[in-house]
Amino acid sequence: MNTDRLVRTFQELVSIDSPSFDERRMADELAGRLKELGFAVSEDGAGEYYGGTAGNLYAYREGTLPGEPLLFSTHMDTVEPARGKRAVLRGDGRIESGGDTVLGADCMAGTAALLEALTELKEEGRDCRSLELLFFIGEERHLRGSAVFDFSRVRAKESYILDLSGPLGRAANQAPTLVDFRIAVRGKAAHAGFAPEKGVHAIAAASRALARMELGRVGQDMTVNIGHIEGGVKATNIVPDACFLMGEVRSYSHERALAQMKNIEELFREEAEKAGGSCEVSYTVPVHAYQVPESHPAVSRFRRACEKLGLPGALEPTFGGSDQSNLSLHGIQGLVLASAMEQVHSCGEYTTVSGLETVAELVKLLMQDRE
Ligand SMILES: [Zn+2]
Repeated sequence: MNTDRLVRTFQELVSIDSPSFDERRMADELAGRLKELGFAVSEDGAGEYYGGTAGNLYAYREGTLPGEPLLFSTHMDTVEPARGKRAVLRGDGRIESGGDTVLGADCMAGTAALLEALTELKEEGRDCRSLELLFFIGEERHLRGSAVFDFSRVRAKESYILDLSGPLGRAANQAPTLVDFRIAVRGKAAHAGFAPEKGVHAIAAASRALARMELGRVGQDMTVNIGHIEGGVKATNIVPDACFLMGEVRSYSHERALAQMKNIEELFREEAEKAGGSCEVSYTVPVHAYQVPESHPAVSRFRRACEKLGLPGALEPTFGGSDQSNLSLHGIQGLVLASAMEQVHSCGEYTTVSGLETVAELVKLLMQDRE
Protein backbone atom coordinates (compact mmCIF):
# COMPACT_ATOMS: atom_id res chain seq x y z
CA MET A 1 0.00 0.00 0.00
CA ASN A 2 1.35 3.43 -0.95
CA THR A 3 0.43 5.09 2.35
CA ASP A 4 2.03 8.45 1.57
CA ARG A 5 0.07 8.79 -1.66
CA LEU A 6 -3.17 7.74 0.05
CA VAL A 7 -2.75 10.33 2.82
CA ARG A 8 -1.75 12.98 0.29
CA THR A 9 -4.85 12.24 -1.81
CA PHE A 10 -7.02 12.51 1.30
CA GLN A 11 -5.42 15.84 2.27
CA GLU A 12 -5.82 17.22 -1.26
CA LEU A 13 -9.49 16.26 -1.45
CA VAL A 14 -10.20 17.69 2.01
CA SER A 15 -8.59 21.00 1.04
CA ILE A 16 -11.27 21.45 -1.65
CA ASP A 17 -14.31 23.37 -0.40
CA SER A 18 -17.38 21.32 -1.29
CA PRO A 19 -20.43 22.29 0.74
CA SER A 20 -23.77 20.89 -0.45
CA PHE A 21 -24.78 22.27 -3.87
CA ASP A 22 -21.37 23.89 -4.36
CA GLU A 23 -19.47 20.76 -5.42
CA ARG A 24 -18.03 22.18 -8.69
CA ARG A 25 -14.34 22.00 -7.76
CA MET A 26 -14.70 18.55 -6.24
CA ALA A 27 -16.50 17.24 -9.32
CA ASP A 28 -13.76 18.61 -11.60
CA GLU A 29 -11.01 17.15 -9.42
CA LEU A 30 -12.60 13.70 -9.29
CA ALA A 31 -13.47 13.67 -12.99
CA GLY A 32 -9.82 14.46 -13.83
CA ARG A 33 -8.49 11.69 -11.60
CA LEU A 34 -11.00 9.14 -12.88
CA LYS A 35 -10.19 9.85 -16.53
CA GLU A 36 -6.51 9.20 -15.76
CA LEU A 37 -7.56 5.86 -14.32
CA GLY A 38 -9.27 4.93 -17.59
CA PHE A 39 -12.88 5.74 -16.72
CA ALA A 40 -15.44 7.30 -19.03
CA VAL A 41 -16.94 10.08 -16.90
CA SER A 42 -20.16 12.03 -17.29
CA GLU A 43 -22.09 14.52 -15.19
CA ASP A 44 -25.88 14.78 -14.97
CA GLY A 45 -28.13 17.83 -14.67
CA ALA A 46 -28.78 17.59 -10.92
CA GLY A 47 -26.78 20.78 -10.33
CA GLU A 48 -29.01 22.85 -12.60
CA TYR A 49 -32.10 21.18 -11.16
CA TYR A 50 -31.25 22.35 -7.64
CA GLY A 51 -29.49 25.59 -8.54
CA GLY A 52 -26.16 24.08 -7.49
CA THR A 53 -22.78 24.28 -9.20
CA ALA A 54 -22.26 20.62 -10.17
CA GLY A 55 -24.22 17.49 -11.00
CA ASN A 56 -23.78 13.87 -9.97
CA LEU A 57 -20.73 12.15 -11.49
CA TYR A 58 -21.09 8.76 -13.15
CA ALA A 59 -17.99 6.81 -14.24
CA TYR A 60 -17.64 3.48 -16.01
CA ARG A 61 -14.68 1.25 -16.80
CA GLU A 62 -14.80 -2.14 -18.48
CA GLY A 63 -13.09 -4.86 -16.44
CA THR A 64 -10.95 -7.87 -17.23
CA LEU A 65 -12.99 -10.19 -15.00
CA PRO A 66 -16.37 -11.59 -16.07
CA GLY A 67 -19.61 -10.69 -14.32
CA GLU A 68 -21.92 -7.73 -13.95
CA PRO A 69 -20.29 -4.45 -13.02
CA LEU A 70 -19.98 -3.61 -9.33
CA LEU A 71 -21.08 -0.18 -8.18
CA PHE A 72 -19.07 1.88 -5.69
CA SER A 73 -20.28 5.24 -4.46
CA THR A 74 -19.53 8.17 -2.16
CA HIS A 75 -20.86 11.72 -1.97
CA MET A 76 -19.01 14.90 -2.88
CA ASP A 77 -20.58 17.33 -0.41
CA THR A 78 -19.76 18.01 3.23
CA VAL A 79 -21.78 19.58 6.04
CA GLU A 80 -20.95 23.04 7.42
CA PRO A 81 -18.66 24.47 8.65
CA ALA A 82 -17.16 23.31 5.38
CA ARG A 83 -15.02 26.17 4.07
CA GLY A 84 -11.23 26.32 4.46
CA LYS A 85 -10.97 22.70 5.57
CA ARG A 86 -7.55 21.13 6.10
CA ALA A 87 -6.39 17.70 7.19
CA VAL A 88 -3.79 17.82 9.97
CA LEU A 89 -1.72 14.63 10.37
CA ARG A 90 -0.77 13.94 14.01
CA GLY A 91 2.23 11.90 15.14
CA ASP A 92 0.03 9.00 16.19
CA GLY A 93 -1.51 8.62 12.73
CA ARG A 94 -4.70 10.44 13.59
CA ILE A 95 -5.87 12.99 11.00
CA GLU A 96 -7.95 15.89 12.33
CA SER A 97 -9.41 19.14 11.02
CA GLY A 98 -7.94 22.51 11.94
CA GLY A 99 -10.59 22.65 14.69
CA ASP A 100 -12.81 25.32 13.13
CA THR A 101 -14.37 23.19 10.36
CA VAL A 102 -15.42 19.61 9.86
CA LEU A 103 -12.65 17.39 8.47
CA GLY A 104 -14.68 16.02 5.58
CA ALA A 105 -13.66 12.39 6.18
CA ASP A 106 -17.39 12.05 5.53
CA CYS A 107 -17.12 11.29 2.60
CA MET A 108 -13.50 11.94 1.52
CA ALA A 109 -11.99 9.06 3.55
CA GLY A 110 -13.94 6.57 1.44
CA THR A 111 -13.29 8.59 -1.71
CA ALA A 112 -9.51 8.69 -1.15
CA ALA A 113 -9.46 4.97 -0.34
CA LEU A 114 -11.43 4.24 -3.51
CA LEU A 115 -8.98 6.24 -5.66
CA GLU A 116 -5.97 4.55 -4.03
CA ALA A 117 -7.45 1.09 -4.60
CA LEU A 118 -8.02 1.90 -8.29
CA THR A 119 -4.51 3.33 -8.67
CA GLU A 120 -2.88 0.26 -7.13
CA LEU A 121 -4.94 -2.19 -9.17
CA LYS A 122 -3.77 -0.36 -12.28
CA GLU A 123 -0.11 -0.18 -11.19
CA GLU A 124 -0.04 -3.84 -10.27
CA GLY A 125 -1.82 -4.84 -13.49
CA ARG A 126 -4.45 -6.80 -11.57
CA ASP A 127 -7.61 -8.25 -13.08
CA CYS A 128 -10.61 -6.27 -11.96
CA ARG A 129 -14.40 -6.29 -12.31
CA SER A 130 -16.20 -3.87 -14.58
CA LEU A 131 -16.87 -0.88 -12.38
CA GLU A 132 -19.53 1.78 -12.16
CA LEU A 133 -18.80 4.66 -9.81
CA LEU A 134 -21.24 7.29 -8.60
CA PHE A 135 -20.28 10.46 -6.75
CA PHE A 136 -23.41 12.25 -5.60
CA ILE A 137 -24.08 15.88 -4.80
CA GLY A 138 -26.34 17.04 -1.95
CA GLU A 139 -26.25 13.81 0.07
CA GLU A 140 -26.17 15.79 3.29
CA ARG A 141 -29.39 17.52 2.27
CA HIS A 142 -31.67 14.52 2.44
CA LEU A 143 -30.03 12.59 -0.42
CA ARG A 144 -31.21 15.11 -2.99
CA GLY A 145 -28.49 14.31 -5.55
CA SER A 146 -29.21 10.59 -5.76
CA ALA A 147 -32.95 11.33 -5.59
CA VAL A 148 -32.87 12.75 -9.14
CA PHE A 149 -30.19 10.54 -10.71
CA ASP A 150 -31.29 8.54 -13.76
CA PHE A 151 -30.62 4.98 -12.56
CA SER A 152 -31.79 3.45 -15.83
CA ARG A 153 -28.21 3.84 -17.10
CA VAL A 154 -26.75 1.77 -14.24
CA ARG A 155 -26.06 -1.89 -15.10
CA ALA A 156 -24.80 -2.99 -11.67
CA LYS A 157 -27.18 -4.86 -9.38
CA GLU A 158 -24.86 -4.74 -6.35
CA SER A 159 -23.43 -1.69 -4.64
CA TYR A 160 -21.01 -0.60 -1.93
CA ILE A 161 -21.43 2.86 -0.43
CA LEU A 162 -18.38 4.13 1.48
CA ASP A 163 -20.26 6.26 3.96
CA LEU A 164 -20.58 4.78 7.46
CA SER A 165 -18.85 5.84 10.67
CA GLY A 166 -17.74 3.44 13.35
CA PRO A 167 -15.41 0.43 13.59
CA LEU A 168 -13.98 -0.98 10.34
CA GLY A 169 -15.10 -4.28 8.87
CA ARG A 170 -18.74 -3.48 9.61
CA ALA A 171 -21.49 -2.65 7.16
CA ALA A 172 -25.07 -1.45 7.32
CA ASN A 173 -27.59 -3.72 5.58
CA GLN A 174 -30.76 -2.07 6.87
CA ALA A 175 -31.95 1.53 7.05
CA PRO A 176 -35.22 3.22 7.99
CA THR A 177 -37.85 5.23 6.21
CA LEU A 178 -37.72 8.89 7.16
CA VAL A 179 -40.83 11.04 6.99
CA ASP A 180 -40.20 14.76 7.25
CA PHE A 181 -43.33 16.72 8.14
CA ARG A 182 -44.63 20.23 8.61
CA ILE A 183 -47.86 21.17 10.41
CA ALA A 184 -49.66 24.51 10.37
CA VAL A 185 -52.44 24.95 12.94
CA ARG A 186 -54.68 27.87 11.97
CA GLY A 187 -56.79 29.75 14.49
CA LYS A 188 -58.19 33.24 14.60
CA ALA A 189 -56.59 36.41 15.93
CA ALA A 190 -58.44 38.58 18.47
CA HIS A 191 -57.55 41.10 21.12
CA ALA A 192 -56.41 39.09 24.14
CA GLY A 193 -57.76 41.66 26.60
CA PHE A 194 -60.91 43.04 24.98
CA ALA A 195 -62.33 39.96 23.23
CA PRO A 196 -60.37 36.74 23.77
CA GLU A 197 -63.55 34.69 23.22
CA LYS A 198 -63.61 35.93 19.61
CA GLY A 199 -60.22 34.33 18.91
CA VAL A 200 -59.15 30.74 18.23
CA HIS A 201 -55.89 30.09 20.05
CA ALA A 202 -53.68 28.25 17.53
CA ILE A 203 -50.80 27.72 19.99
CA ALA A 204 -53.12 26.25 22.62
CA ALA A 205 -54.69 23.89 20.07
CA ALA A 206 -51.26 22.81 18.82
CA SER A 207 -50.10 22.31 22.43
CA ARG A 208 -53.01 20.00 23.19
CA ALA A 209 -52.19 17.89 20.13
CA LEU A 210 -48.48 17.90 21.01
CA ALA A 211 -49.24 16.79 24.57
CA ARG A 212 -51.14 13.79 23.19
CA MET A 213 -48.34 12.83 20.77
CA GLU A 214 -45.96 9.97 21.48
CA LEU A 215 -42.46 11.42 21.18
CA GLY A 216 -39.05 9.77 21.29
CA ARG A 217 -38.95 5.99 20.94
CA VAL A 218 -42.31 4.66 19.91
CA GLY A 219 -42.41 0.88 20.07
CA GLN A 220 -39.52 -1.33 18.94
CA ASP A 221 -38.39 0.29 15.75
CA MET A 222 -39.73 3.82 15.50
CA THR A 223 -38.80 7.31 16.66
CA VAL A 224 -40.90 10.47 16.46
CA ASN A 225 -39.64 14.00 16.98
CA ILE A 226 -40.88 17.58 16.85
CA GLY A 227 -37.74 19.62 16.20
CA HIS A 228 -39.09 23.14 15.81
CA ILE A 229 -42.13 25.13 16.78
CA GLU A 230 -43.15 28.77 16.31
CA GLY A 231 -46.38 30.69 16.42
CA GLY A 232 -48.18 33.96 17.00
CA VAL A 233 -46.64 37.37 16.55
CA LYS A 234 -44.33 39.20 18.94
CA ALA A 235 -47.09 40.70 21.01
CA THR A 236 -48.63 39.62 24.31
CA ASN A 237 -52.07 41.08 23.70
CA ILE A 238 -53.08 39.09 20.62
CA VAL A 239 -54.64 35.63 20.53
CA PRO A 240 -52.26 33.83 18.11
CA ASP A 241 -53.84 32.79 14.82
CA ALA A 242 -51.16 30.35 13.69
CA CYS A 243 -48.71 27.81 15.03
CA PHE A 244 -46.13 25.92 12.92
CA LEU A 245 -44.35 22.71 13.80
CA MET A 246 -41.64 20.66 12.07
CA GLY A 247 -40.81 17.08 12.87
CA GLU A 248 -39.87 13.63 11.63
CA VAL A 249 -40.81 9.96 11.92
CA ARG A 250 -38.28 7.15 11.41
CA SER A 251 -39.01 3.45 11.23
CA TYR A 252 -37.51 0.31 9.72
CA SER A 253 -41.03 -0.34 8.47
CA HIS A 254 -42.07 1.98 5.66
CA GLU A 255 -45.74 1.19 6.27
CA ARG A 256 -45.56 1.84 10.01
CA ALA A 257 -43.79 5.17 9.42
CA LEU A 258 -46.58 6.29 7.07
CA ALA A 259 -49.28 5.00 9.45
CA GLN A 260 -47.72 6.98 12.30
CA MET A 261 -47.71 10.07 10.08
CA LYS A 262 -51.43 9.60 9.49
CA ASN A 263 -51.98 9.34 13.29
CA ILE A 264 -50.11 12.59 13.86
CA GLU A 265 -52.10 14.30 11.13
CA GLU A 266 -55.42 13.16 12.64
CA LEU A 267 -54.39 14.23 16.13
CA PHE A 268 -53.58 17.78 15.07
CA ARG A 269 -56.67 18.01 12.86
CA GLU A 270 -58.87 16.87 15.75
CA GLU A 271 -57.48 19.38 18.24
CA ALA A 272 -57.49 22.23 15.70
CA GLU A 273 -61.13 21.58 14.78
CA LYS A 274 -62.19 21.12 18.41
CA ALA A 275 -60.86 24.62 19.05
CA GLY A 276 -62.69 26.00 16.00
CA GLY A 277 -59.61 26.24 13.79
CA SER A 278 -58.07 24.15 11.04
CA CYS A 279 -54.89 22.36 10.26
CA GLU A 280 -52.63 21.76 7.22
CA VAL A 281 -50.16 18.89 7.19
CA SER A 282 -47.53 18.27 4.53
CA TYR A 283 -44.76 15.74 4.44
CA THR A 284 -42.02 14.27 2.24
CA VAL A 285 -40.37 10.86 2.37
CA PRO A 286 -36.74 11.55 1.42
CA VAL A 287 -35.48 8.18 2.68
CA HIS A 288 -37.08 4.78 2.04
CA ALA A 289 -36.49 1.75 4.24
CA TYR A 290 -34.60 -1.26 2.88
CA GLN A 291 -33.00 -4.43 4.13
CA VAL A 292 -30.41 -6.56 2.37
CA PRO A 293 -30.63 -10.27 3.31
CA GLU A 294 -27.56 -11.99 4.78
CA SER A 295 -27.61 -14.38 1.81
CA HIS A 296 -27.15 -11.59 -0.75
CA PRO A 297 -24.02 -11.87 -2.97
CA ALA A 298 -22.90 -8.36 -1.94
CA VAL A 299 -22.81 -9.60 1.67
CA SER A 300 -20.91 -12.80 0.84
CA ARG A 301 -18.33 -10.81 -1.14
CA PHE A 302 -17.93 -8.32 1.71
CA ARG A 303 -17.40 -11.18 4.19
CA ARG A 304 -14.83 -12.90 1.95
CA ALA A 305 -12.83 -9.68 1.70
CA CYS A 306 -13.08 -9.01 5.45
CA GLU A 307 -11.88 -12.51 6.26
CA LYS A 308 -8.71 -11.96 4.20
CA LEU A 309 -8.02 -8.77 6.16
CA GLY A 310 -8.87 -10.19 9.59
CA LEU A 311 -11.89 -7.88 9.92
CA PRO A 312 -15.17 -8.92 11.58
CA GLY A 313 -17.36 -8.64 8.46
CA ALA A 314 -20.32 -7.80 10.68
CA LEU A 315 -23.68 -6.47 9.53
CA GLU A 316 -25.72 -3.96 11.50
CA PRO A 317 -28.77 -1.79 10.95
CA THR A 318 -28.31 1.96 10.78
CA PHE A 319 -30.97 4.50 11.73
CA GLY A 320 -29.58 7.08 9.31
CA GLY A 321 -30.09 7.59 5.60
CA SER A 322 -27.53 7.16 2.85
CA ASP A 323 -27.56 7.17 -0.94
CA GLN A 324 -28.08 3.40 -0.70
CA SER A 325 -31.72 4.14 0.14
CA ASN A 326 -32.21 5.65 -3.32
CA LEU A 327 -30.21 2.86 -4.99
CA SER A 328 -32.44 0.27 -3.30
CA LEU A 329 -35.51 2.07 -4.62
CA HIS A 330 -34.14 1.38 -8.12
CA GLY A 331 -33.37 -2.29 -7.56
CA ILE A 332 -29.68 -1.99 -6.72
CA GLN A 333 -29.03 -3.72 -3.42
CA GLY A 334 -25.90 -3.24 -1.40
CA LEU A 335 -24.07 -2.36 1.77
CA VAL A 336 -22.92 0.86 3.37
CA LEU A 337 -19.36 0.15 4.50
CA ALA A 338 -17.60 1.59 7.53
CA SER A 339 -15.05 3.85 5.91
CA ALA A 340 -12.69 5.34 8.50
CA MET A 341 -14.66 8.37 9.63
CA GLU A 342 -15.39 9.23 13.25
CA GLN A 343 -17.36 11.96 15.04
CA VAL A 344 -18.75 13.07 11.71
CA HIS A 345 -20.75 16.30 11.36
CA SER A 346 -18.60 17.98 14.04
CA CYS A 347 -15.35 19.93 14.17
CA GLY A 348 -13.94 16.99 16.14
CA GLU A 349 -14.31 14.70 13.11
CA TYR A 350 -11.23 12.54 12.47
CA THR A 351 -9.83 9.61 10.55
CA THR A 352 -6.62 7.57 10.89
CA VAL A 353 -3.88 6.59 8.46
CA SER A 354 -4.34 2.89 9.28
CA GLY A 355 -8.11 3.25 8.83
CA LEU A 356 -7.68 4.76 5.35
CA GLU A 357 -5.31 1.91 4.44
CA THR A 358 -7.75 -0.75 5.62
CA VAL A 359 -10.62 0.73 3.61
CA ALA A 360 -8.43 0.92 0.49
CA GLU A 361 -7.39 -2.75 0.97
CA LEU A 362 -11.01 -3.78 1.43
CA VAL A 363 -12.16 -1.95 -1.72
CA LYS A 364 -9.27 -3.45 -3.67
CA LEU A 365 -10.33 -6.97 -2.68
CA LEU A 366 -14.00 -6.33 -3.50
CA MET A 367 -13.06 -5.09 -6.97
CA GLN A 368 -11.02 -8.25 -7.65
CA ASP A 369 -13.70 -10.67 -6.43
CA ARG A 370 -14.65 -13.20 -9.11
CA GLU A 371 -18.11 -14.13 -7.77
ZN1 LIG B 1 -21.71 10.89 4.40
